[in-house]
Amino acid sequence: MSDNQVKTLDVKALREKYNQERDKRIRPDGEAQYMAPVGSHDRYITHDPFADSIKERAPLNDEVEVLVLGGGWTGLLASVRLAGQGIDDIRIIDDGSDFGGTWYWNRYPGAQCDIESYVYIPLLEETGYVPKEKYSYAPEMQEHARRIATQYGLYEKTVFQTRVERIDWDAEAKRWIVSTNRGDKIKARFFICCIGPFSRLRLPDIPGFDDFQGHSFHTGRWDYGYTGGDHGGNLTKLADKKVAIIGTGATAVQAIPHVGNWAKHLYVFQRTPSSIDVRGNKPTDPEWVKSLKPGWKKERSDNFDTVVRGEPFDVDLVSDGWTEIFRKVPIVHVIGAVEQADKDAVAERKARLEYADFEKMSQIRARVDQFVKDPETAEALKPWYAQFCKRPCFNDDYLPTFAKPNVTLVDVSASRGVERMTKNGIVANGKEYEVDCIIYATGFEVSGTFRRKYGFEIYGKDGLDLFDYWGTGMRTFHGHSIHNFPNFFIAGWTQVGASWNFCNVAAAITEHVAQIVAETRKAGPEAVIEATGEGEQEWVDIIRSSAGFNDEFLESCTPGYYNNEGKFRETVATFPYDQYAPGLKAFQVVLGDWWSTGKMEGMSITK
Ligand code: NDP
Repeated sequence: MSDNQVKTLDVKALREKYNQERDKRIRPDGEAQYMAPVGSHDRYITHDPFADSIKERAPLNDEVEVLVLGGGWTGLLASVRLAGQGIDDIRIIDDGSDFGGTWYWNRYPGAQCDIESYVYIPLLEETGYVPKEKYSYAPEMQEHARRIATQYGLYEKTVFQTRVERIDWDAEAKRWIVSTNRGDKIKARFFICCIGPFSRLRLPDIPGFDDFQGHSFHTGRWDYGYTGGDHGGNLTKLADKKVAIIGTGATAVQAIPHVGNWAKHLYVFQRTPSSIDVRGNKPTDPEWVKSLKPGWKKERSDNFDTVVRGEPFDVDLVSDGWTEIFRKVPIVHVIGAVEQADKDAVAERKARLEYADFEKMSQIRARVDQFVKDPETAEALKPWYAQFCKRPCFNDDYLPTFAKPNVTLVDVSASRGVERMTKNGIVANGKEYEVDCIIYATGFEVSGTFRRKYGFEIYGKDGLDLFDYWGTGMRTFHGHSIHNFPNFFIAGWTQVGASWNFCNVAAAITEHVAQIVAETRKAGPEAVIEATGEGEQEWVDIIRSSAGFNDEFLESCTPGYYNNEGKFRETVATFPYDQYAPGLKAFQVVLGDWWSTGKMEGMSITK
């Protein structure tokens, strides 16, 4: 079917085409096709290309009230919220050499926030800062992370270039013992894990991976020493290099135009094309800034959540490619409230949403023809799946890159990925591509095993290993606390109400956790809090009872981390599946109700 000829969409044919395209990509090994950068591959993460030097220091053997792991948005938010509760005796640990987390490490050329910066970037009103553009670039976000840390005095409370290796609960001392790669043994009364969903890189476990003798790195540790240039491009050292990029997800889409501009030749190995819509970035309007009233940031972020969840809305404040479909088909479905609603009406709205999505994706596919004239390349660049099956991408330079004579798209969908690597390069579709450098744009451990995702060991009461405890799936109370893991909190993305805007989730959960820490401290200097077994079970039951709400959609999607590489049913421990289905707003109501009883039910404090 040629997309340009579609006048009235043939829904049945499109569904069939989507299914075919999905099936040809599903791999029996699922998540196991990836490997963690450990052991002989740890050079992909242990080297910090952005550090001036590694600062020598003596191991720390002291004690702090709260240890915050991670200096990205979540860690910063947690620290600021703790300060708001009057808790200053904190220490932040981060393996980067400055604040920023994801935005410290992801400095690849073109890195940009893909959600509107006014809703994405946290603590704007508190710092009096308004982003310069609708979609900020990485350096502005790094600068904002530093701004927050400076304003709240967090530099003096932080140890950088330090990786936590394990934490053990010392029941007698009622403290966590935090062991790091720098020989530290820090005692902490409370431990808040703020590692974010994109902090652990993953590599493809391609046959012959270690045979390649050229240069290689992951986009999460961009090697400007090798490429030259900086975030803005100017990758002059690539002028005589043949470069391969493996992957075409949200990261690659932003980096590829820059590599294509500078490399002698660029081979892009693509398994699944991304959906590429118009970015249309623009500078912030100073008149709009003047019109902002206190509370604008929360109002705008909440409005974005409401719109992209398909819930009723009066106004779409963000009004961009994320919200477009929902403007066309408002009130699509209210997840979790289907029983109360008129089922026929819900089914009708779902059908309208599906149709609007088919229309959107037809438009996306037609855009490819606008920029890429070689028919084979253009066909390969067309995505055949629903817009939200994968992170939708918005970029004005990506598609034109494939019209350049020095850029070759290598479609590896037929072999479900790159076949193998050799001493000199990459084999795909039976042909060897000799390259000087391979750049892995292969993503992060979002839906990998817990042990791989967390990257450090956690031992609770009686030496209970958290990841053994979670052997049959994640178990938490409200996503943040775990039975038998006292004074331990996760500020994360699973078993909480989700949002496409991670920072909105992080803002809600860190505020809540900081308040729990404050309440525990009020109970006495040795007080300890943990989830009760019953409280945890009740929450897990709630999560699992709603887990199927999105099955139909996940089933229809091409594999990726959103649907656990197509195996979302095999475990409840997957990223999109293990959610409080009614979403962030409803989750915040749950938390509000929980506080209002004054009983902290589901948790117990021992004085
Ligand atoms: P992804 O996991 O989205 O993409 C990994 C890519 O590698 C996919 O294209 C995948 O193909 C490909 N791949 C993996 N193994 C192979 C193989 N063996 N052969 C060929 N190709 C392979 O990672 P990204 O880093 O691109 O994005 C991760 C997330 O980071 C995004 O979804 C987004 O949430 C976030 N991000 C956010 C930004 C922001 O502004 N906030 C900016 C950039 C990223 P396939 O699709 O077939 O699996």
